[in-house]
Amino acid sequence: MTGLPGKLPARDFEEIRLAEALERGRCPVCDARQEASYAALRGLAREGATDRGLRDQMDRGLGFCQSHSVGLSRMELQQTSSQLATAVLLDAVLRRRLATFKKLAGNDAAAQARGLAELADSRCPVCARIAESSRTTARRLLELSADTAWSAALGSAEICLDDLCSLWALAAAGPKESQQRWSIIVSAQLRRLEALQKTLADYAHNSTHDRRHLITPEQQEAGAASIRFFGGSPDRDRQR
Ligand SMILES: [Zn+2]
Ligand SMILES: [Zn+2]
Repeated sequence: MTGLPGKLPARDFEEIRLAEALERGRCPVCDARQEASYAALRGLAREGATDRGLRDQMDRGLGFCQSHSVGLSRMELQQTSSQLATAVLLDAVLRRRLATFKKLAGNDAAAQARGLAELADSRCPVCARIAESSRTTARRLLELSADTAWSAALGSAEICLDDLCSLWALAAAGPKESQQRWSIIVSAQLRRLEALQKTLADYAHNSTHDRRHLITPEQQEAGAASIRFFGGSPDRDRQR
């Protein structure tokens, strides 16, 4: 990312983190989601097994989605070199699921289908924290866009496709003033994406065997930037 007008004014830790994400060329909403995910997993790995409130919630159907079951075990392994807390938590989820399955198995097909549809939502506490973080970050970024430095930074930031759309939708649903603020950012984003698309097309054009030597570093970077645009950033497999 280029063209950031120096340090962004930040009033608290959250804003400092958002400013840093923008300055590092990361999508600030993806960055906030990843922070929320790590914070939730760290907390669960540390205290989840002894957290009475959490165990009660599990007895009422709280579980972990696929990616956060694995995420929890990895986080715990990194922090404590063991996976005992994960085992305690997964045991609690499994008990609950088993009881539900046993009940379902004795029901007729229609009730089974209904029960299974309900179970499709794992009611993962980490996913809930991530969703909450997405919402609060989007609101905060729209507030910050009243500042010209933040507005300029958001216009040139590598906001990913999903978050660009969700910020846009939030701004469009907001008051006129926030719609106007966002339209300036959107114009800048569209210029950024147009430039990206052109460079990406040049890169793609040079992809044939006889043209590969013509690929420039800028074209190569456009390839990486387009993957970040569609796939989000930072890297999903970052560990910490
Ligand atoms: Zn994003
Ligand atoms: Zn989850």
